[in-house]
Amino acid sequence: MLKLSKRLQTIAEFVSYGSRVADIGSDHALLPVYLIQSKRVPSAIAGELNPGPFEAARKQAADAGLTSKLQVRRGDGLSVLQPGEADTITIAGMGGSLMSGILEEGYLAGKLEGVKELVLQPNVGEEFVRSWLLKRSWWLAEETILEEDDKIYEVLHAFKYEESEVLKRNAEVYDASFLTLPIHQDMGAAILEKMGPHLLREPKEVFFKKWRFELDKLGKIVTQMSQSDLEQAELKKKQFREEMSVIEEVLQCLQTGKPSSK
Ligand code: SAM
Repeated sequence: MLKLSKRLQTIAEFVSYGSRVADIGSDHALLPVYLIQSKRVPSAIAGELNPGPFEAARKQAADAGLTSKLQVRRGDGLSVLQPGEADTITIAGMGGSLMSGILEEGYLAGKLEGVKELVLQPNVGEEFVRSWLLKRSWWLAEETILEEDDKIYEVLHAFKYEESEVLKRNAEVYDASFLTLPIHQDMGAAILEKMGPHLLREPKEVFFKKWRFELDKLGKIVTQMSQSDLEQAELKKKQFREEMSVIEEVLQCLQTGKPSSK
């Protein structure tokens, strides 16, 4: 049986037993091959846009003797699917903006009909994915954060239910009152979308590591911008400083359980 990286293994463990899976952007088809080999799912579709990764996925399926259970299809995003063909869609290893674009196009084309579960691992821009899930009424049931080979990854697990049920559940998920910060609910919800509502509720050390790293990056950008006299740069710098101060406040509040005195 294939041995997956910690990142892919985490994604695999979110997939519901017995579901028909479509893995989109499936370079080498590692995830669907593993899911079938481990008998977690009966069958899968691997969708891949680019010729190299598509060939690699086909070869992987053939080498594993799984061509009858794993269909490798070439195409853009969810276009490789027929409505009702998959219960679960996994998308991993791409930016959150591209990922939410793929999901939105698929949604508009009716490709998400019948899909009940999404397991998503954006490499960056997780907030775009959370925002898309909210917009299209998916309940964000779980999130996790992990580190592997000096990279930090987030995995988002979402389900489809009746609209009213999803609204109710997401209202709880995105209720920011636990943050005990002196902020308006809208601002609280924006923080939760950016940093992860579940990750914020049970912050692990790697979560703090990620956000300290982000603060460091933003600080470097602000320093670089200080060398520019442009009015635009001044405005951006102010925005970044405000963003940094919100992140700092949140981290402080999580560490002490109280709002910072700043
Ligand atoms: N999902 C695998 C993983 O997490 O290890 C592979 C990640 S790889 C970095 C991203 C893959 O997505 C590439 O193979 C790329 O060709 C594919 N890809 C990018 N845009 C895509 C799209 N619009 N539709 C399908 N595949 C796409």
